[in-house]
Amino acid sequence: MQKTLLYLIFSLFLCNLCLAQEEYYFPGEKFDPTIPSPSQFLGYPIGDWHTRYDLIVKYFEKLDQISPMAQIKTIGYTHEHRPKVILTITSAVNMGNLEQIRLKQIQLADPSQAKPDVNSMPSIIHQGYGVHGNEPSSAEAAMLTAYWLMASQSDLAKNLRENAVVHIDPTLNPDGRDRHSLWANSNKGFPPVADPLDREHNEAWPGGRTNHYWFDLNRDWLPLAHPESRVKVEWYHQWYPNVTTDFHEMGTNSTYFFEPTKPFGSENPVVPRKNYDDINPRFAKYFAKYMDEIGSLYWSKEVFDNSYPGYGSTYPDIHGGLGLVFETASSRGHVQSSQRGDITFAFTIRNHVVNSLATMEAALDNRVYMHDYLREFFASAVAEGGKDGAKSYVFGDEYDESRNRLFVKFLLDHKIKVYENSADLSIAGQSYKKGKSWVVPTNQPQYRMVRTMFEYVKEFADSVFYDASAWTMAAAYGMPFSVAAFAKSGTQVTEVSTPNFTFPEGKAYAYLIDWSDYYAPKMLFEMQKAGIHVEAVHRAFSSQTQDGSVSFSAGTLMIPMGFQKLKAEEIATKLKELAGKNGQKVYAVTTGLNLSGVDLGSNSVSAIQVPKVVMLVGPGINGTEAGEIWNLMDQHLGMPMTKLNLEQFGRINLHEYTTLIMPSGNYNSLSEGQVNHLKDWLSRGGTIISLKNASLWLNQKGITKEEAVKLEDEKEPAVLPFAVRNDFEGAKEVGGSIYMAELDLTHPLAYGYHRKSIPVYRNTSIFIKPSADKYLTPVKYSASPHLGGYISKANLEKLKQSAGVVISPAGQGRVVHFFDSPNFRGTWFGTNKLFLNAIFHGDNMD
Ligand SMILES: [Zn+2]
Repeated sequence: MQKTLLYLIFSLFLCNLCLAQEEYYFPGEKFDPTIPSPSQFLGYPIGDWHTRYDLIVKYFEKLDQISPMAQIKTIGYTHEHRPKVILTITSAVNMGNLEQIRLKQIQLADPSQAKPDVNSMPSIIHQGYGVHGNEPSSAEAAMLTAYWLMASQSDLAKNLRENAVVHIDPTLNPDGRDRHSLWANSNKGFPPVADPLDREHNEAWPGGRTNHYWFDLNRDWLPLAHPESRVKVEWYHQWYPNVTTDFHEMGTNSTYFFEPTKPFGSENPVVPRKNYDDINPRFAKYFAKYMDEIGSLYWSKEVFDNSYPGYGSTYPDIHGGLGLVFETASSRGHVQSSQRGDITFAFTIRNHVVNSLATMEAALDNRVYMHDYLREFFASAVAEGGKDGAKSYVFGDEYDESRNRLFVKFLLDHKIKVYENSADLSIAGQSYKKGKSWVVPTNQPQYRMVRTMFEYVKEFADSVFYDASAWTMAAAYGMPFSVAAFAKSGTQVTEVSTPNFTFPEGKAYAYLIDWSDYYAPKMLFEMQKAGIHVEAVHRAFSSQTQDGSVSFSAGTLMIPMGFQKLKAEEIATKLKELAGKNGQKVYAVTTGLNLSGVDLGSNSVSAIQVPKVVMLVGPGINGTEAGEIWNLMDQHLGMPMTKLNLEQFGRINLHEYTTLIMPSGNYNSLSEGQVNHLKDWLSRGGTIISLKNASLWLNQKGITKEEAVKLEDEKEPAVLPFAVRNDFEGAKEVGGSIYMAELDLTHPLAYGYHRKSIPVYRNTSIFIKPSADKYLTPVKYSASPHLGGYISKANLEKLKQSAGVVISPAGQGRVVHFFDSPNFRGTWFGTNKLFLNAIFHGDNMD
C-alpha cells in the first residue's frame, strides 16, 4: 500500500517534469490527460536517452490497451527476433470499420473494379521511421507523433483522427537501432560531451545503420532480401497508402532536407511527372511552414536522389502514392557541437516531429486529390502497358528450377501478375520451354514495376548518382528474358512450391546431382555435413540413369557408394531427405561406365574438400560487401563461416582453413609477419577470394601481379571552374550499373552455367586486364558490354578491355579476384554461383 502511494507521488512528480518537456515539442498544446505521453510512460524526458526498441513497442502496446483509437499489430520478426510492429491510429468509429476502409483502398487501387466514392474515404498515411539504426531521432519522433495524434485536443488532430488512418512504423530497422542505442547510451557522459571526437559520437564497426547482416534496409524495398522488408512490403500492398514517409539523419553541420529531391536526373523514369511537378511542391509548402515556425533551417531540390526503387521514399512513388524522404542534421549521440553551436538530440527529434505533423496536415488537405491520383496512377498503368508493342515479358531458365522459383516468388511478392507459358517458344534466338518459363503481361496495374524488373535504362539527364543507376531485376536473377508481342499464355500463378522429385530406389553404384540448380551448393554442403563423401566430375558425360540416358555437364556432383563411411541405406535416406528439402533431383547409376564422355573414375573426377572459410571483417573493411557474403553463406548455403576481425589476424592459423575471403577494404594494418603467414598458407594450397581493391593490396604486396587497364589518350583539362568539381569528379564513378560479360564455360568458376553471356553488376572504377596466362580469365567483359545504368565514355572504354574475374596462381594456391559484385544487395542470384564455385572448386581453378 505504502509502495503504491509512493509510486503515485513519484509518478506525479515525474509527470510534471514530463509535461514541461513535451512542451518543447508541442508548445501551448492541450492534451487528453488520460493518455500518457512518451516521457510519462518511459520516466525520462524524450531526448535524454536513446529509447530501447522494446520500450518503444511497450509504449505502443500501452496506447493500444488504453484507447480504442490505437491498434498495434506485429507483422513479422527481424533476424534477431525483434517484433516488427505497426501502430494504427484513427477515430474509434473508423477503427470499428478498419477492414472496410482497407478494402475500399484496395478497390481504389484496382482499375478493374468500380471507383469508390473518394469523398468519404479517409486518407491513408504511413509514417516510417528509423530505417537507419544510427539515425535515432526519428523513432523518438514516432512516439511523440503517435501521442500527439491520439491526445492532442487541436482541431487538426481531431480532424486527422476522423479523416485519416495513420500507420506508424516506429523503427524499420530494430536490430540496427538497438545496436546504436546501446552504443550511444553506454558512452553517454554526465554531463554529456559535445566534442565530435568523443567515443559516444563514433560508433564501433559496423555501426547501427544496417541490419543484422550489415545490409542497408533503405535499399531493400526492391530486392526484399530481408524479413524486415518482406513484411513491410506485404503490409504496403494491403493498404496502398496515399503518403509514406521515411525519416533520416545526415551530417551534424547540415540543416534539414525535405523533398522535392534533385530534379530530373535523379528521378525515376517510370514515375508520372505529376508526382514531381505538382504533388511534391504542394507538400513542400507545409514542411516549410512548420520549419519556419520553429526557426529551423532547411533545404530541398539538391543532392538526394529519388530514382532507385529500393528506397523507402521511391517505392511508394511507383505505387500511386507519394514517398517522402526527410533528413535532419544529426547529433549522433545526445549532444554534438556543430558550426551552429551544439546540436541536441531533442532538437533533431523536434525537426522530425514537426515534419511528421506537416505531412499529415498536407495529406489531409489533399485527401481527395491524392485518392484521385492513386486511381489515375493505376488506371494509366493498365492503359499504357503494351502501347509500345511490348505486350509482355517472357522469362525462364531451363537449367535452374530453384532460381526460376525464386524469381517468380519475388514478382508475386511485388504483386505482379505472372502466368505460365503454355508452349515451347523461341524469341530472338532465346528458347523458352513450356513448364520452365513464364509470361508477365504489361497491361496490368503493376506495369511500372514490371518495367522496373525488366527494363534497362541507359540514358540519363545527370551523371552523378547518390547510388545505383541500374536495377533490372530479371538480370540480377540471371533470367533469360525477352519482350513478346502476345499478352498472356497459360494459367495465372498464385504461389510457388518446392518440387518433389521421385528418389531412385534400389542399389546404386553412384548417385549424380546436376550442379546447375541454385540450391545445388547448399545440397552439397549439407551432404558433406552429414558425412557423405562427394566428388565433382570435371568434364561433360552422359549416363544410363533411372530416367534413361541423361546428359550431365562439367561440375556434376557424384556420390560414389564404394567410398563411404556411412551404410548405403543411411546415405539413401539422407539424400532423399536433403533432396526433398532443397528441391534437388537425384539420379542413380548402376555402373561407372558412362554412355559418353569420361567415366566416373576418370582423372577428371576429384573429391570435393569440405570448405572451411574465414572472412576478414572489422574497421577498414567494406561492411556492406562483407555482409552480402555473410548473408549468402548463412541464408542460401547454411554454411558456418568464421568472421575474423582484422586486428585478430595475428591469432589465426590459416592452415586450418581452405578459403580466405577478403572483401574490399584497407589491409595496410597487417604486419610483415602476418603477410608472410598469408603467403606461406597460399603457397601450400590455400585459396583467397578477393574483391576489388583488396586485389590491389595483394598486388602491392607482390602476392599477385595483375595489371590495370590504362587508356592512351586519357587526359583531363588542366584547369576547370571550381563549381563543376562535384559533377566532374562524380561522373568518373561507376556508382552501380549492369554489364554483359563472357564466361569461359569450361572453367570451374563457371560450373553450373550454360550460356556464354551473363549480366553482371559492377560498382567499382578498378579496371584490371585479363590475366597474362590465357587460361585464367573465366569472366571477361564483352565487346559492347553496357546493358544499363550510368558509365562515362572513358570508363566504358576501359571496361571493354578488362576482366570480371581473374585467377592468379601462387605456389600451390591461388587468388580468385572478383572485380564485379557477384552478391550485390543479396539479389544477384544469377552470379552467386560464380562466387560459390570459388569456394567449392577453388583448388581446381588454376
Ligand atoms: Zn538514413
